[in-house]
Amino acid sequence: MENSSRPGFVADIGGTNMRLALVARDGGAFREIRSKTPSLPTPERVLDRLAEMMSALGGGEQATGLVLGIPGLVDAETGVVRINANLGWRNVALADAARQRLGLATMIQNDVRLHTLGEWRFGAGRELTPRQTMADVVIGTGIAMGLVSGGQLLNTPESGEIGHITWDRQGIRCGCGKTGCVETMVGAKALIRLFREQGLPADDFAHDVVGSLRAGRPESVRLWNQFSRALAFGLSVIVMVVHPDLIVLSGGVGQSFGWWRPMLMKALQDELFSDSLSGVRITTSALADRAPYLGGLTLLSETSPPR
Ligand SMILES: [Zn+2]
Repeated sequence: MENSSRPGFVADIGGTNMRLALVARDGGAFREIRSKTPSLPTPERVLDRLAEMMSALGGGEQATGLVLGIPGLVDAETGVVRINANLGWRNVALADAARQRLGLATMIQNDVRLHTLGEWRFGAGRELTPRQTMADVVIGTGIAMGLVSGGQLLNTPESGEIGHITWDRQGIRCGCGKTGCVETMVGAKALIRLFREQGLPADDFAHDVVGSLRAGRPESVRLWNQFSRALAFGLSVIVMVVHPDLIVLSGGVGQSFGWWRPMLMKALQDELFSDSLSGVRITTSALADRAPYLGGLTLLSETSPPR
């Protein structure tokens, strides 16, 4: 079989869960397996778990390469995870370690940028011309962004941290050590905190936090409005500085965009000049949690590493 038509492995390694897929080169079909991230997640243990997942998934004999999506400060060029707060890693040469342990040519990328790559090539951004710019704003537990411009993904490891722009100097302490970051109001973690502070249920995010908005409960609408205002502030920075043709709202929270769209658009109009938003389309992810796999496929197709 030609190298270019053989499948590849793509894995998403989070602080709590890991998932792995064998992805066909045409992106049309893939098989997936999920597992818990090991407790005491040293790089060795994570790679051991990945090896178990690969053999459980099966069919990897033909695989030509592996792409690992991982949160944190990831240097895709050198294959080094510089900082991953969730796993407690610093300066881990992960691509080399994976190559040795698993016997596959390995590339690594920040999880949000891998998502962005998939959404751009196969999802909401697939119709864009190479001259157009896209921001993929992934709102899950927290919020971060990947950017495509001039037909390329911006690959700077430190880029995309819109969650840590200061929104409220009198606000609450952020996990990063600063005060009042956008992420203290935007993301599942922030919303759950806001709901609980008001004595509202928030154990089941979809049912309690999104469901109460869908039902139009005033106390929920008020909290989602606070979320929308902080998100609009973060997006206004992107619009003012980059003016992307397309903003994709992705991640678990981004998927509910239809329910808070009017609040967000009103808040954005308040943040921006009157015509700043002209030419900026805002939509939701077309691929949801398949985006990182298709981002990995894009990397595999572009590089076609030798075995
Ligand atoms: Zn922060």
